[in-house]
Amino acid sequence: MPRIVFVGPPGSGKGTQAAILAKARGLAHLSTGDMLRAAVAAGTALGQQARSYMEAGRLVPDDLVLQILSERISAADAQRGFVLDGYPRNLAQAEALARITPLDAVVAFDLPFPELEARLAGRRVCPVCHTVYNIVTNPPATPGVCDREGATLVQRPDDQPAAIRTRLAVYAEETAPLTRYYAGRKLLRTLDARGEPQDVAGRLLRLLA
Ligand code: AMP
Repeated sequence: MPRIVFVGPPGSGKGTQAAILAKARGLAHLSTGDMLRAAVAAGTALGQQARSYMEAGRLVPDDLVLQILSERISAADAQRGFVLDGYPRNLAQAEALARITPLDAVVAFDLPFPELEARLAGRRVCPVCHTVYNIVTNPPATPGVCDREGATLVQRPDDQPAAIRTRLAVYAEETAPLTRYYAGRKLLRTLDARGEPQDVAGRLLRLLA
């Protein structure tokens, strides 16, 4: 029952790799970003509170995120193992997570800064199935249209330049120190996240073997 956490800067491919790994290994894919976006779209009280933080590229308050994660992580499918993508984002969250569940591995995604910016600026998502594309590195067959759903692709509000800068700064300040926290607990494995999704996925599977 593998319990795996992905830590890495925005744009490093955590969501893409979590989807691939979850499918390959039959694990639940838990993404706090997806959970929060769903809450915003559904207009729940929690979503309404989270919205402005997300659009600005700032972290949503810890208690709100913990609430949404605790519920999801106790669902039946997560009992067979999970890939947790986007949580924890700071030390307090890492400590909260340790109180909820033991972990088997933490994968740190390593990607140079200029590549992160390019990936984030080129990212487009399907509003229906949430498939992620990149206009430069991973375009759909028809520009601007989802291969699966035929829906018009959209840009996340937090993929606008000002929010991208905030998210990268928040990562450097609050999230990056977690690699030391998990290295000290002998859980950390570092993944070279450069290149094509399938190549990264191959390295990831070897890293976790
Ligand atoms: P992501 O899809 O993981 O990039 O998350 C999108 C946004 O959701 C982030 O920029 C934050 O505003 C919020 N978010 C996601 N996960 C967390 C978390 N663990 N703690 C605080 N905010 C989060």
